[in-house]
Amino acid sequence: MTGAALDTAWAVRWVRAAADAVAEHRAELVDLDRAIGDGDHGENMDRGFTAVREKLDDEFTGPGAVLKMVAMTLMSKVGGAAGPLYGTAFLRAATSLGDDDASAEAVAAMLAAARDGVVSRGKAEVGDATMVDAWTPAVDAAVQAASSGASPADVLTAAADAAQTGAESTDALQARKGRASYLGERSIGHRDPGAVSTVLLLRAAASAASAGAESAAGADGDGDAAESRG
Ligand code: ADP
Ligand code: MG
Repeated sequence: MTGAALDTAWAVRWVRAAADAVAEHRAELVDLDRAIGDGDHGENMDRGFTAVREKLDDEFTGPGAVLKMVAMTLMSKVGGAAGPLYGTAFLRAATSLGDDDASAEAVAAMLAAARDGVVSRGKAEVGDATMVDAWTPAVDAAVQAASSGASPADVLTAAADAAQTGAESTDALQARKGRASYLGERSIGHRDPGAVSTVLLLRAAASAASAGAESAAGADGDGDAAESRG
């Protein structure tokens, strides 16, 4: 079975994994932002997700409610460009997802809603060397995977893989939005920090979904041992 539901427990696993990933990659995000911005992206994101983590033991009515909590917390705790951008992304994602378990199509629609929120807030297009260069290929890959019958977990993996390629594409691009655009051509040759944090968030969503699919298939968390019993 590969089609485990994306439910409240998945959303909580996602956000916890995202907080772990942001903490683990904090220095990398700082270094990337120091090269073409003001060096605060890792701290901004870690401050936000540390506050989010503290609220994960609350009661939630569904996956959308978890994402709404994330949106509100990021908007209040993360300064700079990224706070409002990710806040809007999670708020639109929450509304799109709602509190029912998400199908493959619903998760692709959720990612599209998040990306549209980033674009409506920041007005960046693909090619401007921002997080949109990770979000948009992720959405395209997710929509395509969902329409070809992929499971929700596989839709998220396709999205994360495409986001990674998109983030890499910013190396060769001149930044046209945000602080990095002040550098003009000198921004070429640097990876956009927000595109890299977008990959971390989508990878966390995918791994949380795959973990759920495994437990739905009968493994109880200790992998091979559980499988060989079954
Ligand atoms: P600040 O730039 O205010 O210091 P952060 O360092 O936290 O904020 O975030 C920088 C990231 O925000 C960039 O790497 C880029 O991905 C993203 N970003 C900045 N401006 C925009 C925009 N207009 N549209 C989309 N993303 C943007
Ligand atoms: Mg910054």
